[in-house]
Order: sequence, then structure tokens, then C-alpha cells
Amino acid sequence: MFPFLIVVLFSLSWKISDSTQPAEEFLHCLSLRFHNSSSISELVYTQHNSSYSSVLKSSTQNFRLSTPSTPTPLVIITPLHASHIQATVHCCKKHGLQLRIRSGGHDFEGLSYTTTYEVPFVVIDLLNLRSVRINVEKGTAWVESGATVGELYYEIAKRSRTLAFPAGIGHTVGVGGHLSGGGFGLLFRKYGLAADNVIDSRLIDVKERILDRKSMGEDLFWAIRGGGGSSFGVVLAWKLNLVAVPAIVTVFTVSKTLEQNATKLVHRWQYIAHKLPKEIHMSIGISRVKSNENEKMTIQASFRAVFLGSIDELLPLMEEKFPQLGIVKEDCFEMGWAESNLYSTQFPIGVPLETLLNGNRKSILSKLFFKAKSDYVKQPIPETTFEGLWPKFYKEEAKSAIMVFVAYGGKMDEILETETPFPHRAGNIFIILYMVD
Ligand SMILES: Cc1cc2nc3c(=O)[nH]c(=O)nc-3n(C[C@H](O)[C@H](O)[C@H](O)COP(=O)(O)OP(=O)(O)OC[C@H]3O[C@@H](n4cnc5c(N)ncnc54)[C@H](O)[C@@H]3O)c2cc1C
Repeated sequence: MFPFLIVVLFSLSWKISDSTQPAEEFLHCLSLRFHNSSSISELVYTQHNSSYSSVLKSSTQNFRLSTPSTPTPLVIITPLHASHIQATVHCCKKHGLQLRIRSGGHDFEGLSYTTTYEVPFVVIDLLNLRSVRINVEKGTAWVESGATVGELYYEIAKRSRTLAFPAGIGHTVGVGGHLSGGGFGLLFRKYGLAADNVIDSRLIDVKERILDRKSMGEDLFWAIRGGGGSSFGVVLAWKLNLVAVPAIVTVFTVSKTLEQNATKLVHRWQYIAHKLPKEIHMSIGISRVKSNENEKMTIQASFRAVFLGSIDELLPLMEEKFPQLGIVKEDCFEMGWAESNLYSTQFPIGVPLETLLNGNRKSILSKLFFKAKSDYVKQPIPETTFEGLWPKFYKEEAKSAIMVFVAYGGKMDEILETETPFPHRAGNIFIILYMVD
């Protein structure tokens, strides 16, 4: 073992021969703390390692934060065990290095892998810690932070078609950042946020202790469910409360242009969608398109819904609550809940369930050069405001701009804003997401 350690240390010191002092000292510290000395060369990437760039970019979702001038970490650690994270926390403290924690790399501003400050930093990338264990009888799951939401949905669906977890629609999102930030998706009107359905977790704090809900205490457990995990520690894994869904759900998408009365329908939607039964998730995607009739630019509003029930149950409901949209049987499709997530990110109907395991696909959102923001709406927006907004989509810099309105209400109105750090609860009628690349 000892000669092997010398070889590893020698090869590492060669790799970092012209690196900065903090990196050398940090790596030396790590080599003393990693129990299995072979793992340091396999799990630690310095800027001189040929795989460094591909590991760094592997889950970077936003190319805006992956340019030649983007600050990069001195070292990336890809731990296999909690002890590797404890060692990293210890050595970062000892050598004054900042730490970034990355699960799925979807942070809109790249907080998990870059920095706006001129400080040397290390990234812990949890890509190797992604196990999912489902207990169907108890309706619970333990999921490691490095798993994606899609991997979680897939493992649940493989074992039960009537269990689900109320997390995001974007299935490439990492569990670590998503659950610690809140996390909303198709079931949030029925069951609340992903963070509302966390019942325990394992976290490594700044003192390198591994804590669970009991040992961390209710204050810290409150904070990591919506307050942004990396402010408090490295969340290793989460225990989840799984929720009930019918074996068949119904989806539809109906698109209307300005010529087809889109403005009035969008305006009307604001009064209806948040009051619909909790079983309906409804959103509108708004973007510019070329009109079929005259090739001229117009605005298209795509009304999408996922309903926890059959077509026969949905149609009378839509006829009663939102007849103006004119939903007919031909607009509707039945499928399993897990598949409805793929449908909602515009995958064609019938793609294999395994698509949920594809974390690096190119979708409408992922792997783009984008800026995204959001707003919470408490009062319906007047029709004239929409009319004033549409021309902004026709500007050159807005050619890829998209706005998504997602209806609030239901369970979100019932959870107190103090129950978790995520405050956007009762009183919001919908959220707007803005994206542009
Ligand atoms: C394509 C796309 C689709 C999306 N879809 C949805 C959606 O449907 N619903 C929704 O609510 N949001 C959605 N989001 C937003 C997404 O939920 C957040 O950006 C989330 O924080 C991403 O988590 P991550 O682990 O992938 O990101 P990361 O970039 O890895 O992490 C995000 C933040 O969490 C911290 N963090 C990550 N892991 C840990 C950990 N284990 N312990 C402590 N802190 C940690 C990071 O340091 C960083 O500050 C989407 C984003 C994108 C880019």
C-alpha cells in the first residue's frame, strides 16, 4: 500500500507541477485523509488532468456560464463515499478554499460550479452518488443527491404505476439542488413542492459531521428544504414521502395564435386555472411563431394540462370551467404519470420510459446559452398589458424568448409561507418563467 501511495502522490505532484500553491497543499491534505489512496487519482481532477474539462462540462446546463472567461475550480472531487466529502470539507477549511456543491448542474446562475468572486474554489460533484431505493409498501424512498429527478421517477414507475413524487417537470434536474430549493412540477397543486414531501435527510455540515433529521434538529431541517442547501452543508440523501396518482392520467396541448383569440384566452385563463381542482396542472407557453396563413410573425400561446384522471372525467370539467378553450376528445391523450412528465417537456408520445434516464439530452431548456428569471403574479394582468407585451417578442434579441405561466392554487394555498423557507404560497395565482438565449 505504502509504495502505491508514493506513486499516486508523485504522479499527482507531477500533474500539478505548475499549479497554484493552494491546490498543491489541498491535494496533499486530501491524500492524507482519503482512506483508500487509489481513489484520489480516480476521483480528483485538477486543471492539468485531461478529463478535467469534460467532467466540469458534463452537467453544466447553461453555456453562458461555460465560456473561456468563466472562473473554474482549482480541483473537482467526485466522491464515492461520505468520507470523501468529509475529507474535502476538512481540507478546504484548512487551506482557505471555498467549496461549491454540484448535483445536477442546473443552477440558472452556475452557483454550483463557478463564482463571481475572484476566489480559489473546489467543486464537489455528486455524480457518483445517485442511488434510489424505493419502499413501495411504506410509500417512501431514499434518494442520493446526485440522482436526477428523472432517475427518481423512473425507479418509482418501475415498481408502481400508482406512486409518484411531486418534483419538477425538467427531468434532467438534480435532486440535490432541486429539493433544497423547493422544486415544483406536475403535482404541486395536489401535493405541494418536492421540499414539502421530504421527511428526513443526511447532511454533512461544516464540522464534517454526518447528521440526520434528528441530530441536525428541526431548524436546520427546515432550512435545507427550500433555503438552498449549500448554505448549510452537503446534503447526501433525502428520504421522501411518495404520493398516490391514478395509473392513467390525461394530457392535452392546444395552441392558439393572436389571430385565434390567444390574448383573450390567456387573459381569461388567469381567472380560472388557479381555481381548478387540484388534480389539474395547467400552464401556458408563449413564444413567437410564423403564422401558417401569411408567414407573418405572430404570438402563439400553448395551453398544456396534465389531469390526474381519464379523458371522460376531464372533458366535462373543462367544458364547465373553461369552455372558451374548446377542448375536445381528439386533443386529449391518456398515459402513465411518469410519461406525462416527458410529454410536458415536449417529447413525442410513446418515447420509452428510459428517456427519463437521459440526463444530457438536448431539450427546449437544457444545454443552452440562456438567461432565466421568474415572477409571481397576485392580480390578473390586464388584456391591454398583454397587447403591449407581444411586440417585444418580435425584436431580434427576443427570437428565442419564451414565457411560461404555471397556475398556482390548490395545495400551495394550504401550506403556510413559514412552513419551509419557500415563501410563495397562498395569494399567488400563477408563476411566470422567462427564458431567452
Ligand atoms: C432545464 C431545466 C429544467 C428545470 N425544471 C424545473 C422544474 O420543472 N421545476 C423546478 O422547480 N425547477 C426547475 N428547474 C430549476 C432547478 O430546479 C434548480 O435550478 C435546481 O437548483 C437545480 O438543481 P441541480 O442539482 O440540478 O443544480 P446544481 O447546479 O447542481 O445546484 C443548484 C444549487 O443547489 C446547491 N446544491 C446542489 N446539490 C447540493 C447538495 N447535495 N447539498 C447542498 N447544496 C446543493 C448548489 O450548490 C447550487 O447552489 C429547472 C432548471 C433547468 C436548467
